[in-house]
Amino acid sequence: MSNSTIDFKGRVAIVTGAGGGLGRQHALALAARGARVVVNDLGGARDGSGGSVSAAQAVVDEIEAAGGEAMANGASVTDFEAVQAMVKQAVDAWGRVDILVNNAGILRDKSFAKMELADFKLVVDVHLMGAVNCTKAVWALMNEQKYGRIVMTTSSSGLYGNFGQSNYGAAKLALVGLMQTLSIEGAKNDIRVNCLAPTAATRMTEGLMPQEVLDALKPEAVVPAMLVLAAENAPNRTILCAGAGTFEAAHITLTQGAWLGIGADTPEQLAARLAEVTSREGEIVPQSGSAQGSNEVGKAMANARKG
Ligand code: NAD
Repeated sequence: MSNSTIDFKGRVAIVTGAGGGLGRQHALALAARGARVVVNDLGGARDGSGGSVSAAQAVVDEIEAAGGEAMANGASVTDFEAVQAMVKQAVDAWGRVDILVNNAGILRDKSFAKMELADFKLVVDVHLMGAVNCTKAVWALMNEQKYGRIVMTTSSSGLYGNFGQSNYGAAKLALVGLMQTLSIEGAKNDIRVNCLAPTAATRMTEGLMPQEVLDALKPEAVVPAMLVLAAENAPNRTILCAGAGTFEAAHITLTQGAWLGIGADTPEQLAARLAEVTSREGEIVPQSGSAQGSNEVGKAMANARKG
Protein backbone atom coordinates (compact mmCIF):
# COMPACT_ATOMS: atom_id res chain seq x y z
CA MET A 1 0.00 0.00 0.00
CA SER A 2 1.38 3.41 -0.98
CA ASN A 3 1.61 6.09 1.72
CA SER A 4 0.73 8.99 -0.61
CA THR A 5 -2.83 9.27 -1.84
CA ILE A 6 -3.51 10.77 -5.25
CA ASP A 7 -5.85 13.65 -4.54
CA PHE A 8 -7.28 16.34 -6.82
CA LYS A 9 -8.96 18.64 -4.27
CA GLY A 10 -8.93 22.24 -5.58
CA ARG A 11 -7.98 21.08 -9.07
CA VAL A 12 -10.00 21.70 -12.23
CA ALA A 13 -9.90 19.10 -15.00
CA ILE A 14 -11.18 18.97 -18.57
CA VAL A 15 -11.74 15.52 -20.04
CA THR A 16 -12.62 15.45 -23.73
CA GLY A 17 -14.82 12.70 -25.16
CA ALA A 18 -16.01 11.93 -21.63
CA GLY A 19 -19.61 11.04 -22.46
CA GLY A 20 -18.80 7.31 -22.61
CA GLY A 21 -16.03 4.71 -22.70
CA LEU A 22 -12.67 5.59 -21.18
CA GLY A 23 -13.39 9.33 -20.93
CA ARG A 24 -16.42 8.71 -18.73
CA GLN A 25 -14.32 6.57 -16.37
CA HIS A 26 -11.57 9.22 -16.33
CA ALA A 27 -14.10 11.95 -15.44
CA LEU A 28 -15.77 9.86 -12.73
CA ALA A 29 -12.41 8.97 -11.15
CA LEU A 30 -11.05 12.54 -11.18
CA ALA A 31 -14.30 13.81 -9.62
CA ALA A 32 -14.32 11.02 -7.02
CA ARG A 33 -10.85 12.19 -5.93
CA GLY A 34 -11.94 15.81 -5.58
CA ALA A 35 -11.46 17.48 -8.98
CA ARG A 36 -14.09 19.74 -10.53
CA VAL A 37 -14.54 18.32 -14.00
CA VAL A 38 -15.62 19.67 -17.36
CA VAL A 39 -17.19 16.66 -19.07
CA ASN A 40 -16.79 17.36 -22.77
CA ASP A 41 -18.41 15.23 -25.43
CA LEU A 42 -19.76 15.89 -28.86
CA GLY A 43 -22.08 12.91 -28.36
CA GLY A 44 -21.63 11.54 -31.89
CA ALA A 45 -21.46 7.97 -33.23
CA ARG A 46 -18.26 5.88 -33.27
CA ASP A 47 -17.38 7.24 -36.73
CA GLY A 48 -17.87 10.83 -35.55
CA SER A 49 -21.28 11.45 -37.15
CA GLY A 50 -24.15 13.19 -35.31
CA GLY A 51 -23.96 14.84 -31.88
CA SER A 52 -25.75 15.88 -28.65
CA VAL A 53 -24.68 17.15 -25.22
CA SER A 54 -26.87 14.55 -23.48
CA ALA A 55 -24.04 11.98 -23.21
CA ALA A 56 -21.86 14.51 -21.33
CA GLN A 57 -24.81 15.65 -19.20
CA ALA A 58 -25.53 12.05 -18.10
CA VAL A 59 -21.95 11.78 -16.77
CA VAL A 60 -22.29 15.15 -15.01
CA ASP A 61 -25.50 13.85 -13.38
CA GLU A 62 -23.61 10.76 -12.19
CA ILE A 63 -20.79 12.86 -10.73
CA GLU A 64 -23.24 15.19 -8.98
CA ALA A 65 -25.24 12.27 -7.62
CA ALA A 66 -22.01 11.00 -6.03
CA GLY A 67 -21.44 14.43 -4.40
CA GLY A 68 -18.93 15.78 -6.95
CA GLU A 69 -18.82 18.93 -9.07
CA ALA A 70 -18.95 18.87 -12.86
CA MET A 71 -20.26 20.70 -15.90
CA ALA A 72 -21.21 19.41 -19.33
CA ASN A 73 -19.81 20.77 -22.57
CA GLY A 74 -20.78 19.71 -26.09
CA ALA A 75 -17.94 21.32 -28.08
CA SER A 76 -16.32 19.39 -30.87
CA VAL A 77 -12.59 19.32 -30.18
CA THR A 78 -12.10 20.13 -33.88
CA ASP A 79 -13.69 23.58 -33.40
CA PHE A 80 -11.04 25.85 -31.83
CA GLU A 81 -13.47 28.66 -31.02
CA ALA A 82 -15.85 26.27 -29.27
CA VAL A 83 -12.88 24.78 -27.38
CA GLN A 84 -11.76 28.26 -26.27
CA ALA A 85 -15.33 28.91 -25.08
CA MET A 86 -15.19 25.63 -23.10
CA VAL A 87 -11.99 26.74 -21.35
CA LYS A 88 -13.55 30.14 -20.61
CA GLN A 89 -16.61 28.34 -19.17
CA ALA A 90 -14.32 26.42 -16.78
CA VAL A 91 -12.29 29.50 -15.80
CA ASP A 92 -15.41 31.64 -15.26
CA ALA A 93 -16.88 29.01 -12.94
CA TRP A 94 -13.81 27.65 -11.18
CA GLY A 95 -10.94 30.09 -11.85
CA ARG A 96 -8.36 27.75 -13.38
CA VAL A 97 -7.64 24.62 -15.43
CA ASP A 98 -5.05 22.27 -13.95
CA ILE A 99 -5.58 19.09 -15.92
CA LEU A 100 -6.44 18.38 -19.53
CA VAL A 101 -7.10 14.82 -20.62
CA ASN A 102 -7.20 14.71 -24.43
CA ASN A 103 -9.30 11.61 -24.90
CA ALA A 104 -11.89 12.34 -27.63
CA GLY A 105 -11.59 10.17 -30.69
CA ILE A 106 -13.22 8.40 -33.61
CA LEU A 107 -12.44 5.50 -35.93
CA ARG A 108 -12.71 5.19 -39.73
CA ASP A 109 -10.89 1.87 -40.24
CA LYS A 110 -10.08 0.55 -43.74
CA SER A 111 -7.00 -0.90 -45.37
CA PHE A 112 -4.89 1.89 -46.86
CA ALA A 113 -5.72 0.63 -50.38
CA LYS A 114 -9.43 1.18 -49.78
CA MET A 115 -9.26 4.28 -47.58
CA GLU A 116 -10.65 7.57 -48.84
CA LEU A 117 -8.40 10.55 -48.07
CA ALA A 118 -11.40 12.28 -46.48
CA ASP A 119 -11.51 9.52 -43.82
CA PHE A 120 -7.77 9.88 -43.28
CA LYS A 121 -8.05 13.63 -42.80
CA LEU A 122 -11.07 13.44 -40.51
CA VAL A 123 -9.36 11.00 -38.13
CA VAL A 124 -6.22 13.17 -38.05
CA ASP A 125 -8.42 16.22 -37.45
CA VAL A 126 -10.23 14.75 -34.44
CA HIS A 127 -7.29 12.99 -32.73
CA LEU A 128 -4.35 15.24 -33.57
CA MET A 129 -5.88 18.67 -34.22
CA GLY A 130 -8.50 18.08 -31.50
CA ALA A 131 -5.71 17.61 -28.95
CA VAL A 132 -3.76 20.53 -30.42
CA ASN A 133 -6.83 22.80 -30.15
CA CYS A 134 -7.56 21.85 -26.53
CA THR A 135 -3.91 22.07 -25.50
CA LYS A 136 -3.45 25.44 -27.23
CA ALA A 137 -6.59 26.73 -25.47
CA VAL A 138 -5.15 25.95 -21.99
CA TRP A 139 -1.43 26.49 -22.69
CA ALA A 140 -1.16 30.24 -21.88
CA LEU A 141 -3.29 29.74 -18.77
CA MET A 142 -1.19 26.81 -17.52
CA ASN A 143 1.98 28.84 -18.12
CA GLU A 144 0.53 31.74 -16.11
CA GLN A 145 -0.58 29.37 -13.33
CA LYS A 146 2.86 27.73 -13.45
CA TYR A 147 1.03 24.42 -13.22
CA GLY A 148 -0.49 22.01 -15.70
CA ARG A 149 -0.90 18.31 -16.34
CA ILE A 150 -1.75 17.23 -19.88
CA VAL A 151 -2.47 13.68 -20.94
CA MET A 152 -2.49 12.78 -24.64
CA THR A 153 -4.26 9.55 -25.51
CA THR A 154 -2.09 7.63 -27.94
CA SER A 155 -2.54 4.00 -28.96
CA SER A 156 -0.70 0.75 -29.62
CA SER A 157 -1.92 1.24 -33.21
CA GLY A 158 0.22 4.36 -33.41
CA LEU A 159 3.17 2.94 -31.49
CA TYR A 160 3.31 -0.41 -33.27
CA GLY A 161 0.72 -0.41 -36.10
CA ASN A 162 -2.47 -2.37 -36.72
CA PHE A 163 -4.03 -3.56 -39.98
CA GLY A 164 -6.67 -1.13 -41.26
CA GLN A 165 -5.66 1.76 -39.01
CA SER A 166 -3.19 3.82 -41.05
CA ASN A 167 -5.18 7.03 -40.43
CA TYR A 168 -5.70 6.35 -36.73
CA GLY A 169 -2.14 5.08 -36.17
CA ALA A 170 -0.62 8.12 -37.89
CA ALA A 171 -2.74 10.49 -35.80
CA LYS A 172 -1.98 8.62 -32.57
CA LEU A 173 1.79 8.63 -33.09
CA ALA A 174 1.59 12.32 -34.00
CA LEU A 175 0.33 12.86 -30.45
CA VAL A 176 3.54 11.29 -29.13
CA GLY A 177 5.51 13.79 -31.22
CA LEU A 178 3.39 16.63 -29.86
CA MET A 179 3.99 15.39 -26.30
CA GLN A 180 7.77 15.13 -26.85
CA THR A 181 8.09 18.84 -27.67
CA LEU A 182 5.45 20.18 -25.28
CA SER A 183 7.02 18.27 -22.38
CA ILE A 184 10.25 20.15 -23.10
CA GLU A 185 8.59 23.55 -23.62
CA GLY A 186 6.28 23.24 -20.60
CA ALA A 187 8.85 22.00 -18.06
CA LYS A 188 9.99 25.44 -16.87
CA ASN A 189 6.46 26.29 -15.71
CA ASP A 190 5.69 22.86 -14.23
CA ILE A 191 3.50 21.79 -17.12
CA ARG A 192 4.00 18.05 -17.48
CA VAL A 193 2.87 16.34 -20.65
CA ASN A 194 2.56 12.59 -21.00
CA CYS A 195 0.91 9.98 -23.19
CA LEU A 196 -1.47 7.21 -22.22
CA ALA A 197 -1.82 4.17 -24.49
CA PRO A 198 -4.96 2.38 -23.26
CA THR A 199 -6.43 -0.97 -24.11
CA ALA A 200 -10.06 -1.30 -23.08
CA ALA A 201 -13.33 -2.77 -24.19
CA THR A 202 -15.42 0.19 -25.33
CA ARG A 203 -17.62 0.79 -28.35
CA MET A 204 -14.36 1.69 -30.16
CA THR A 205 -13.13 -1.90 -29.87
CA GLU A 206 -16.50 -3.60 -30.54
CA GLY A 207 -16.03 -6.20 -33.24
CA LEU A 208 -12.24 -5.86 -33.12
CA MET A 209 -11.58 -8.46 -30.40
CA PRO A 210 -13.24 -11.72 -29.25
CA GLN A 211 -15.84 -11.34 -26.47
CA GLU A 212 -13.79 -13.14 -23.78
CA VAL A 213 -10.92 -10.70 -24.33
CA LEU A 214 -13.30 -7.73 -24.24
CA ASP A 215 -14.64 -9.01 -20.89
CA ALA A 216 -11.13 -8.86 -19.38
CA LEU A 217 -10.58 -5.30 -20.57
CA LYS A 218 -12.69 -3.09 -18.31
CA PRO A 219 -12.16 0.64 -19.05
CA GLU A 220 -11.77 1.16 -15.25
CA ALA A 221 -8.51 -0.80 -15.43
CA VAL A 222 -6.92 1.98 -17.51
CA VAL A 223 -7.89 4.79 -15.12
CA PRO A 224 -5.01 4.39 -12.59
CA ALA A 225 -2.52 5.23 -15.35
CA MET A 226 -4.42 8.41 -16.25
CA LEU A 227 -4.61 9.40 -12.56
CA VAL A 228 -0.84 9.01 -12.15
CA LEU A 229 -0.21 11.12 -15.27
CA ALA A 230 -2.66 13.82 -14.07
CA ALA A 231 -1.37 13.91 -10.47
CA GLU A 232 0.82 16.54 -8.83
CA ASN A 233 3.67 13.97 -8.77
CA ALA A 234 3.21 13.08 -12.43
CA PRO A 235 6.26 12.18 -14.49
CA ASN A 236 7.02 14.23 -17.61
CA ARG A 237 7.44 12.82 -21.14
CA THR A 238 6.29 9.28 -20.34
CA ILE A 239 4.35 6.95 -22.61
CA LEU A 240 2.35 4.77 -20.21
CA CYS A 241 0.48 1.76 -21.56
CA ALA A 242 -2.43 0.33 -19.57
CA GLY A 243 -4.95 -2.45 -20.02
CA ALA A 244 -6.58 -5.22 -17.96
CA GLY A 245 -4.59 -4.11 -14.90
CA THR A 246 -1.20 -4.38 -16.64
CA PHE A 247 0.96 -1.25 -16.89
CA GLU A 248 3.97 -0.78 -19.16
CA ALA A 249 6.02 2.07 -20.59
CA ALA A 250 6.93 2.51 -24.25
CA HIS A 251 10.17 4.27 -25.21
CA ILE A 252 11.46 5.67 -28.46
CA THR A 253 14.99 4.42 -28.26
CA LEU A 254 18.16 5.00 -30.24
CA THR A 255 20.77 2.35 -30.93
CA GLN A 256 24.47 2.94 -30.39
CA GLY A 257 24.90 2.67 -34.16
CA ALA A 258 28.25 3.07 -35.89
CA TRP A 259 30.17 5.91 -37.47
CA LEU A 260 30.90 5.01 -41.09
CA GLY A 261 32.08 8.35 -42.44
CA ILE A 262 31.13 9.95 -45.72
CA GLY A 263 32.67 8.07 -48.64
CA ALA A 264 31.83 6.63 -52.03
CA ASP A 265 31.32 3.15 -50.55
CA THR A 266 29.36 4.25 -47.42
CA PRO A 267 26.10 2.71 -48.78
CA GLU A 268 27.85 -0.67 -49.20
CA GLN A 269 29.47 -0.36 -45.76
CA LEU A 270 26.10 0.51 -44.21
CA ALA A 271 24.43 -2.46 -45.92
CA ALA A 272 27.22 -4.75 -44.68
CA ARG A 273 27.02 -3.43 -41.09
CA LEU A 274 23.23 -2.98 -40.82
CA ALA A 275 22.96 -5.62 -38.10
CA GLU A 276 25.49 -3.67 -35.99
CA VAL A 277 23.78 -0.30 -36.68
CA THR A 278 20.37 -1.69 -35.71
CA SER A 279 21.60 -3.78 -32.76
CA ARG A 280 19.65 -2.91 -29.63
CA GLU A 281 22.56 -3.47 -27.28
CA GLY A 282 23.24 -0.32 -25.26
CA GLU A 283 20.38 1.66 -26.79
CA ILE A 284 19.44 4.99 -25.19
CA VAL A 285 16.52 7.44 -25.05
CA PRO A 286 17.84 10.87 -26.12
CA GLN A 287 16.66 13.85 -24.05
CA SER A 288 15.59 15.73 -27.21
CA GLY A 289 15.84 15.67 -30.97
CA SER A 290 18.82 18.01 -30.89
CA ALA A 291 20.52 15.71 -28.36
CA GLN A 292 20.24 12.93 -30.95
CA GLY A 293 21.77 15.19 -33.63
CA SER A 294 24.62 16.15 -31.28
CA ASN A 295 25.20 12.46 -30.65
CA GLU A 296 25.80 11.90 -34.37
CA VAL A 297 28.16 14.85 -34.68
CA GLY A 298 29.90 13.76 -31.46
CA LYS A 299 30.68 10.34 -32.96
CA ALA A 300 32.06 11.98 -36.12
CA MET A 301 34.26 14.33 -34.06
CA ALA A 302 35.56 11.48 -31.91
CA ASN A 303 36.49 9.54 -35.05
CA ALA A 304 38.13 12.59 -36.62
CA ARG A 305 40.27 13.01 -33.47
CA LYS A 306 41.23 9.32 -33.59
CA GLY A 307 42.17 9.47 -37.27
P1 NAD B 1 -15.40 5.87 -27.25
O1 NAD B 1 -15.88 5.93 -28.67
O2 NAD B 1 -16.25 5.18 -26.25
O3 NAD B 1 -15.10 7.32 -26.72
C1 NAD B 1 -14.70 8.39 -27.52
C2 NAD B 1 -15.55 9.58 -27.14
O4 NAD B 1 -15.08 10.72 -27.86
C3 NAD B 1 -17.03 9.38 -27.51
O5 NAD B 1 -17.83 9.57 -26.37
C4 NAD B 1 -17.28 10.44 -28.59
O6 NAD B 1 -18.57 10.99 -28.57
C5 NAD B 1 -16.22 11.48 -28.26
N1 NAD B 1 -15.88 12.29 -29.42
C6 NAD B 1 -15.64 11.87 -30.68
N2 NAD B 1 -15.36 12.92 -31.47
C7 NAD B 1 -15.40 14.03 -30.69
C8 NAD B 1 -15.19 15.40 -30.94
N3 NAD B 1 -14.89 15.84 -32.16
N4 NAD B 1 -15.31 16.26 -29.91
C9 NAD B 1 -15.62 15.83 -28.66
N5 NAD B 1 -15.85 14.52 -28.37
C10 NAD B 1 -15.74 13.64 -29.38
O7 NAD B 1 -13.95 5.20 -27.31
P2 NAD B 1 -12.86 4.91 -26.16
O8 NAD B 1 -12.34 3.55 -26.42
O9 NAD B 1 -13.35 5.26 -24.81
O10 NAD B 1 -11.70 5.90 -26.62
C11 NAD B 1 -11.19 6.95 -25.83
C12 NAD B 1 -9.81 7.31 -26.33
O11 NAD B 1 -8.91 6.21 -26.11
C13 NAD B 1 -9.74 7.61 -27.83
O12 NAD B 1 -8.80 8.65 -28.06
C14 NAD B 1 -9.21 6.32 -28.40
O13 NAD B 1 -8.58 6.52 -29.65
C15 NAD B 1 -8.26 5.91 -27.32
N6 NAD B 1 -7.89 4.50 -27.35
C16 NAD B 1 -8.79 3.56 -27.00
C17 NAD B 1 -8.38 2.23 -27.00
C18 NAD B 1 -9.31 1.15 -26.56
O14 NAD B 1 -8.82 0.01 -26.49
N7 NAD B 1 -10.55 1.44 -26.25
C19 NAD B 1 -7.09 1.89 -27.40
C20 NAD B 1 -6.21 2.87 -27.74
C21 NAD B 1 -6.62 4.19 -27.70
